[in-house]
Amino acid sequence: MSSDRRSRDLVGLRVVAVHAHPDDESISTGGALADLACRGADVLVVTCTLGEEGEVIGETYQGLVNDEADQLGGFRIHELSRALAILGVRGEFLGGAGRYRDSGMAGSPASRNPRAFVNSGERAVNDLVEIFRHEAPHLVLTYDANGGYGHPDHIRAHEITHLAARQVDIPRILWAARLREELEANFADDIPAGWTHPAPGELDAVDTTDTWVEMDDIVYAAKAEAMKAHATQIWLADGSISLTNPHPAIARGPVTTYALSNLIAQPIIRREHYLLGAGLPLDHGADIASGLDF
Ligand SMILES: [Zn+2]
Repeated sequence: MSSDRRSRDLVGLRVVAVHAHPDDESISTGGALADLACRGADVLVVTCTLGEEGEVIGETYQGLVNDEADQLGGFRIHELSRALAILGVRGEFLGGAGRYRDSGMAGSPASRNPRAFVNSGERAVNDLVEIFRHEAPHLVLTYDANGGYGHPDHIRAHEITHLAARQVDIPRILWAARLREELEANFADDIPAGWTHPAPGELDAVDTTDTWVEMDDIVYAAKAEAMKAHATQIWLADGSISLTNPHPAIARGPVTTYALSNLIAQPIIRREHYLLGAGLPLDHGADIASGLDF
């Protein structure tokens, strides 16, 4: 770890990350959030839904899913709270916990629920405007127009972020992304039984980015632990077990490997990449807070 990583060089910087479901903050921006918090920035994660439509990994809490007890959303509040504490950041649900419901994958019946986040209209924009006015962030993190991988709630999170930013001046908006060449260079060699290697092009990635966060060991460990806190959604192949998923899995590869409920092996890459979505440009590879006046 370099000494400047330990310095509190970002005291006074205010950051808001806008995410669709509990676990997205850790998977796509956990490194940046932990790094910013570690350097003294004030960081708020806004989560737009409870992730009620998710599947559950492991047998223990299978019965929580939407067509059984429909209790997964409440359970995921607890997972999110732990993850945010590990990352050292604050959290808030858009409009209060439970206001907007997970819309499910594209075309799913869940999207027709009037409370589904895709049907949130102007109300969700106003809810986010209120948060932006209160927080006055210098930097906002979210996804690109495709929501990173096309999930309707991720696309909606992108939309309301940019619509709210028309009403409140946000100096810089960044979109989280994965760089294809790094992603492919970090695929595991051996994966656990029952898991699959990603098919070519199956995982969403881009060919160029504007900048990235290089995680030191402490930040990388925080990101991995935060992901692990979402045990109904994420299975780390590091040999660990949890109450939710009592089955250890081990992968061999350049970095730690994880899977979502589809059991496609994905690497936790040491770099988190970002595209400039709006606002103050930054030099290629520059610190994500560079040039911001705080
Ligand atoms: Zn998500």
